Amino acid sequence: MKYVAGIDIGSTQAKGIIMDEHSEIVGKAILDMETNMGTAAQRVFERVLANANLSYSDIAFTVATGYGRYRVTFGDLQVTEISCHARGALAEFPNTRTVLDIGGQDTKAIRIGDSGEVTDFAMNDKCAAGTGRFLGAASFALEMPLSDLGPLALKSTRPVKITTTCTVFAETEIIGHLAKGHLPEDVLMGMHHSIATRCASLVRRVGMAPDVTFSGGVSRNVAMVALLEDVLGTPLNVSSQSQFMGAIGAGLYALDNLQAAKRSQTAYATGSK
Ligand code: ADP
Repeated sequence: MKYVAGIDIGSTQAKGIIMDEHSEIVGKAILDMETNMGTAAQRVFERVLANANLSYSDIAFTVATGYGRYRVTFGDLQVTEISCHARGALAEFPNTRTVLDIGGQDTKAIRIGDSGEVTDFAMNDKCAAGTGRFLGAASFALEMPLSDLGPLALKSTRPVKITTTCTVFAETEIIGHLAKGHLPEDVLMGMHHSIATRCASLVRRVGMAPDVTFSGGVSRNVAMVALLEDVLGTPLNVSSQSQFMGAIGAGLYALDNLQAAKRSQTAYATGSK
């Protein structure tokens, strides 16, 4: 059995998956990014190999994606996050026509045509307001792990309106609201609202069509899922693999390359080439 790897080097977390020739995922790993993207890529690769109980020599092809894809020195090919998220989303939810990927520092809306091709995409501008980084500021200000933010926000009964659109000032605004006596859940719900509104406008920019699949790390946040469904007026496809969507797409591109190489070997062996 041969295996392929998909490595997604994002701004915040490095993700890696290994799949077999039948596109079954046999290992995955996620690590927080470190200053040196190349080292993070190497570490996540070692971790996913260990999780799959495999070694370097078992991996026939590796595709790298994400912001740091060119730092994956052991990668055989680099493919954009747009293509990889679209491919990963379609593999899990074949009726996907729109993908919303909210990551640590950028947000993308991707429109997919009926044949599975990417027809349009939109990205947030340089500002990180509608991204996971805004939630990172909340996590820091409230001294609370990221995984607790969504469940707490859902307890809100009187959301506070967040006026800043700048991540740098978000922390100050949160602290200010708390000092005035607002409850953490109400401040958090306001933050989530602000992100959802920005992301929804990106989705509309590409001409939202169902099914809409939500990928990226922020899709792990239950309050973001609920709010986006409300603002967009449509249910969202979300799976436990959503943060790995880009890495899975990369793995599928790697598998294409492995299969193409096999076909050409067979053609030579049978003399048809
Ligand atoms: P990137 O590819 O840009 O590194 P990811 O798609 O990996 O980004 O998403 C990272 C973001 O996901 C973080 O900024 C954070 O907001 C969110 N996130 C990560 N883990 C969790 C979690 N357990 N619960 C909620 N949100 C999370």
